[in-house]
Amino acid sequence: MNAKLDSSVTERPVTRQTFDEVLVPTYAPAAMVPVRASGLDLWDQAGKHYLDFTSGIAVTSLGHCAPAVVEALTKQINTLWHLGNGYSNEPVLRLALALTEATFADRAFFCNSGAEANEAALKLARKYAHTKFGPNKSRIISCFSSFHGRTLFTVSVGGQAKYTEGFEPLPQEINHIAYNDIEAARAAIGDDVCAVIVEPVQGEGGVVPGDAAYLKELRALCDKTGALLIFDEVQSGMGRTGELFAYMGYGVTPDILTAAKALGNGYPIGAMLTTHELAATLGVGTHGTTYGGNPLAATVALTVLETINTPAFLARVKDASAKLVAMLQGLITDYPHMFSIVRGSGLLLGLVVSDAFKGRAKDIQKAAEAQGLMVLIAGMDVVRLAPALIVSDAQIAEAGRLLRLALDGIKAA
Ligand SMILES: *Cc1c(COP(=O)(O)O)cnc(C)c1O
Repeated sequence: MNAKLDSSVTERPVTRQTFDEVLVPTYAPAAMVPVRASGLDLWDQAGKHYLDFTSGIAVTSLGHCAPAVVEALTKQINTLWHLGNGYSNEPVLRLALALTEATFADRAFFCNSGAEANEAALKLARKYAHTKFGPNKSRIISCFSSFHGRTLFTVSVGGQAKYTEGFEPLPQEINHIAYNDIEAARAAIGDDVCAVIVEPVQGEGGVVPGDAAYLKELRALCDKTGALLIFDEVQSGMGRTGELFAYMGYGVTPDILTAAKALGNGYPIGAMLTTHELAATLGVGTHGTTYGGNPLAATVALTVLETINTPAFLARVKDASAKLVAMLQGLITDYPHMFSIVRGSGLLLGLVVSDAFKGRAKDIQKAAEAQGLMVLIAGMDVVRLAPALIVSDAQIAEAGRLLRLALDGIKAA
């Protein structure tokens, strides 16, 4: 009998080894395979418990299987799944109202990921410039070390050459400048620029917060040249910094904002938010995607937004951030040969390794996992922590205890 037709296929035993046999090897996942999770608690196939300080890369901000989200999604699952863009639906209409009421934006476009949200933002910027200024205003300015997704356009705009190597020919008229460098921005943003795209806090690039003066200067330069300012808040948005979106804390308003990751708490959804004037550029038929704003995704996102966007929830994120920073500062004091500084914003924090430990962030991540603590890295020199925003003081203390056990093991080796 053909094993692929075996009716028990959904219950066939699978292991980490299966990944190496039948998945395209774009990732190198951990040795353990998670099977279930709740809040910040997670269990693998062997029943081992982990405290999750990754939230699926700043995605499950309300925790795994958040009860309010499970309830809303379960109700929607039994009501209406999918229509396609020939029809609207109530959840997406409510979500668009809520997002535009909560932000600078007047209009929303929905898609399925951060890369697609940025793809929409960049296409809008090009089209707006074409329509308003003609074909010569097409240059896009982005920052080195930035990350904007993995479509061909977004890797080309992203500031990490390793992600475009071998995929040439690339989209044209894209230039990169050093992040937080005002002089470089002044030199690069001229009249031929249609858009400047920036992460208010660089995530994948090492957890580097933007300087307020820098982001303000980008706003001024865009106003001067007629370029659009795009804030990629795929990682920094939805409460991660203690503001609903990081731009609110900086007091710098973009023309276009992109969100994804925590917007869906693990259910795929992305959004591009913009003004009436810019949105008008994308008329009927100019852009789209089959699943964008489907009732399931929109229901989840609406529930997430309602939960996060309250003063008490956001204040607690800042409080938890202060406690996590204090815990990490304690590690720097006690392990000065391993770590140099803590940086980041809210509950998106990077513990930068010292010179003696350069390139070894992954070793620390593996040692933490062995102790039952999941953390992220951002490049080879930064241990990144992005717990769910509901993290408790006790869980922060427990993460500190597990990290110390992990670090002591490394020291002894
Ligand atoms: C994760 C990320 C993206 C890409 O999002 P996907 O959903 O993986 O396509 C884009 N920008 C930033 C800042 C991100 O952190």
